[in-house]
Amino acid sequence: MTKKSTFLKEIEKLKPDFIEVKLDKIALAYDFAKQAHKGQYRENGQEYFVGHSVPVAIHIAEISWDETLICAALLHDLIEDTEVTYSILTKEFGKDIATLVEGVSKLGKLKYQGNERHVESLRKFFVSIAQDVRVVILKLADRWHNLETLQYLPVEKQQRIALESIMIYAPLASRMGMGKLVTIINDLAFPYAYPAEYARTKTIISSQLKKADSTIQKIYRNIATELYNAFGYSPQINKRVKGLYSLYKKLERKNWIVDEIYDLIALRVIVNNVAECYQALGIIHNKWKPVPGRVKDYIAVPKPNGYQSLHTAIFTGDGFILEIQIRTPQMHEFNESGVASHHSYKNSHLQKGPNKESFAWIEQLREFQNNELRTATYLKRLRTDFFQDRIFVFTPRGDVIDLPSGASILDFAYAVHSDIGFHASGGKINGKYVGLKSKLSSGDIVEIITNKKSKPSDKWLEYCVTSSAIGKIRRYLKVEAKDLT
Ligand code: MN
Repeated sequence: MTKKSTFLKEIEKLKPDFIEVKLDKIALAYDFAKQAHKGQYRENGQEYFVGHSVPVAIHIAEISWDETLICAALLHDLIEDTEVTYSILTKEFGKDIATLVEGVSKLGKLKYQGNERHVESLRKFFVSIAQDVRVVILKLADRWHNLETLQYLPVEKQQRIALESIMIYAPLASRMGMGKLVTIINDLAFPYAYPAEYARTKTIISSQLKKADSTIQKIYRNIATELYNAFGYSPQINKRVKGLYSLYKKLERKNWIVDEIYDLIALRVIVNNVAECYQALGIIHNKWKPVPGRVKDYIAVPKPNGYQSLHTAIFTGDGFILEIQIRTPQMHEFNESGVASHHSYKNSHLQKGPNKESFAWIEQLREFQNNELRTATYLKRLRTDFFQDRIFVFTPRGDVIDLPSGASILDFAYAVHSDIGFHASGGKINGKYVGLKSKLSSGDIVEIITNKKSKPSDKWLEYCVTSSAIGKIRRYLKVEAKDLT
């Protein structure tokens, strides 16, 4: 059997039944990309295409089976690493796929240099450059596979990529509601980012798991029987062990006292509808004493990223506390896959969540996804065009400055520092000398040239769009005019 047929079989196996697509186009993308990557190899000696592009495409099929996305995944490194251009891709596969590949290539620029102050801006930059949620999904699948093969890279690179994944990629996946991918990315990166902490956390969890195992089995059987008696069918019940990285973060908050962590192991109960969720909670509380203050109703009040479930923690009766999570299949799929989930579900409660800590941009993204997911063309319309009014540019040191679109190099100068603004005489965009009125676009690297003699004039007011720059220039001109009279 050739590798191509193995791949197509795998893709076919992952395809949800309700999607009716022949794999012809995917097969074409396979041949095209394989040919273009010919002669390229990865650090581990594997052929680039089968060693990377193919597994990324399989990850896409696992995250969100979509013909266009799978093709784009097979082709995702062509613009960056081969002679193939955007226009060739457009000719061969159409504008939609070509634009996705181009978007992924643009994201190659993003590098986290360890400055925590700029993490939020980097995340925003990432989404704004991506323009399309599908590009973010592609980039996440790409990162997933890069993390799986991290062992072949030099140590410094391993650490940088691992930290970047934890600081930028996992939080983005989280805000897009892709819970499963958050755990995957964090747990793959964790041993490289913080090796000692990883080892310590791993030891703790394996000893806890061993201790609790027979109790969990017993509770599992009990709940299964109780719910069968009540509902007349056997709800799906899964054991969920907390991800290592998220456990580590919690252990740090609890001064490494593992007994204070109640959600180390959870049983996930999936019942048919919302009424049964509450009913199941009652049945469980009737049988086991709940830990006070641990009942959480994320169905009535979802998390900001749309997560919905009932949570409770029960005393098992033999010294353990076990978390139980109850949800419907639709909630479960959304909690695991977020914007990438195929099924939409109607729920007016989704609009209500407590959102104090979430950012406006992700609010928009979420609202957008909730509205759009109700329609059949779930991913195609998930464009992030609400970012069109912001641009994100870099200082030469790699700090990100967030500006309204239409901003000039002079707006940038004032945004960095008033003094730099007042004495700006010119600047460079991506290494090229430009005048003060030059407009910026997302991703530009901007440097300001100052001159002690340089100072604001009336014309400067026309160069700027940010109110802070305009205000500072106005005040300056007023004072100067007074001094002259
Ligand atoms: Mn790649």
